[in-house]
Amino acid sequence: MAKITSLIRKLEGSYGHPAADSATISFQTGHAFHWNYRERTLTYNPAHPHAEQYLFHELAHALLAHKSYSSSVQLLEMERDAWQEALQLAHEYGTTIDEDIAQESLDSYRDWLHQRSLCPRCAATGVESTSFHYACLACGHSWRSNEARNCALRRVSKNK
Ligand SMILES: [Zn+2]
Ligand SMILES: [Zn+2]
Repeated sequence: MAKITSLIRKLEGSYGHPAADSATISFQTGHAFHWNYRERTLTYNPAHPHAEQYLFHELAHALLAHKSYSSSVQLLEMERDAWQEALQLAHEYGTTIDEDIAQESLDSYRDWLHQRSLCPRCAATGVESTSFHYACLACGHSWRSNEARNCALRRVSKNK
């Protein structure tokens, strides 16, 4: 955890100055990893086993000016881009990101999106019409999935 504290100090040195105009980023601890583009606040959990890697990932969202997404495809693209950028950022700060962690994170997003595309009524796979609105072609039911707010999603076990 001492390591993450010194990294945060470095990042605050680079991005936390009010003089650095509107691009200032505030860092705060919390339970999850999250980039709030409205408040320009990056929340990180220093106790997470891959805290540093997810920190770079959230920083990537911030630097890429990611705001909101209008479909699950766009969400996955943003996640993929953020990991690409995170690899670069980590390199600049003399550390590396385990590509398995990036892959695992993307897989967990795919699983999460898949779960939400299943019809709550008959369990057939629905079609995403607009922004996270799904329709079931089998039974005609329609529903809306919640947006993913946490990039460090837990992998949904398929065996349960
Ligand atoms: Zn259905
Ligand atoms: Zn993310």
